[in-house]
Amino acid sequence: MNDYYLTDVWRKAIAWLIDHGVIMNDSMVQTVSDYSYILSLNENTIVISCQIFLAELIINEHREKFEEALASVVHHPVTIKVIKGDDMNRNTNKKIDNIEVFYHTQCDKNYNFENFIVGRSNIQAQVSALTVANNPGLAYNPLFIYGNSGLGKTHLLNAIGNKVRELFPHFKIGFISGLDFVEGVASSIKNHTINDFKKQFQDLDILLVDDIQFIAGKEKTHEIFFSIFNGLVNAKKQICLTCDRLPKDIEGLEERIISRFNQGLNVNIEAPEYETSINILKKKLTLSTIQSIDDDVLSYIATNFSQDVRQLEGALNRLLFYAIDFASTNHITLDIAMEAFQGQVTDSNDDIDINIIKKAVCNYYGVTKQQLNSKIRTKNIAIPRQIAMYLCRKYLDLPYKDIGYNFGKRDHSTVINACDRVEEMIRKEPLYQKAIQEIEKGLK
Ligand code: ADP
Ligand code: MG
Repeated sequence: MNDYYLTDVWRKAIAWLIDHGVIMNDSMVQTVSDYSYILSLNENTIVISCQIFLAELIINEHREKFEEALASVVHHPVTIKVIKGDDMNRNTNKKIDNIEVFYHTQCDKNYNFENFIVGRSNIQAQVSALTVANNPGLAYNPLFIYGNSGLGKTHLLNAIGNKVRELFPHFKIGFISGLDFVEGVASSIKNHTINDFKKQFQDLDILLVDDIQFIAGKEKTHEIFFSIFNGLVNAKKQICLTCDRLPKDIEGLEERIISRFNQGLNVNIEAPEYETSINILKKKLTLSTIQSIDDDVLSYIATNFSQDVRQLEGALNRLLFYAIDFASTNHITLDIAMEAFQGQVTDSNDDIDINIIKKAVCNYYGVTKQQLNSKIRTKNIAIPRQIAMYLCRKYLDLPYKDIGYNFGKRDHSTVINACDRVEEMIRKEPLYQKAIQEIEKGLK
């Protein structure tokens, strides 16, 4: 079965979906046709590889319709498997019946040890991550990195993967988020492919799981994870996990798993102290066109925005955007910084509240506040809800817990996840970046 045939099947299926009103607007069509493709067609199973999260969302949301569409093209019933992919596999010879490592994905190359700034707050985590990357399976197993959101856990996990790839090119590396693991278990149970799901982890040399807290409270997921975990550790394969808290503090996590997590090394990342914040800002500045920045500006940002590194970066990006695109200067003074942060630091709490944010998002997406607060999880509601949560965090500086409460009593990890997802969408998809900018205009 050649690539042309697979591309053709996909094209026809998309045409069917448009015809049947399943994918309705241009951006959906574009997302699916540009960012997903058929990786293999093997008897009744079609594996679809998605390069971006949104494509996965759309396909999973309309899974049955996609299956119907494909069946109508290939003239027999099919089951689809949606996997994360990257462009690397496209246009190369596809292995038709041997798709074992679904999550054998590239780590994010932008996150490495070279651009991770080390300070008192994170040195333990950085040193142990580097040790593990240099001696996978031989140092601490598992390495468990924990800390609040935005402090560099995902960065370090990717850095481990990238370093291992560099030092041990033949190693099979698995990278998966806790949430994707949970979803993977759920969908493979539904599709009766749980053995395939497990198999993909069996011969990994190193498994990296980001945000493991998401497996809490899910019995079947525990069982599967436990057996994968033991299999790998017994074979002296490295496991690295990140989490927003210590194993013992993860509610709803089985004792036997907690005790496994404790058998390696637990290291904490803390909020960056002043010096580290300044160094992170300086490092990020070297990547911009800004030629000079006054020390008091750096000091201002480090003092006001150093709750976590993500916030620090956000403040710097806002300043760079203002200086370059607005003030057209490449020398940043404190006056310029004050103008840039006006309305962000001081006024925001006064003018904007949760209702204003909800209203702006509802107006933009044509949904109702009740829908935002509801339990409905279809993507046309879930995405606006996630964006609204992200904006609450950005503008109101409310604790995750409080934001969750205001969106139908959801728990804090849902909000953390929403903020992460939206940030990822903003980074990867200009369409979302634009949408959010438009919504933000509506807030002012
Ligand atoms: P977490 O996973 O803990 O929520 P991330 O790893 O996503 O946090 O980090 C948030 C942002 O901050 C990322 O862009 C990351 O590159 C950056 N960052 C965090 N810590 C550092 C650091 N020590 N040096 C440079 N950048 C950092
Ligand atoms: Mg993270």
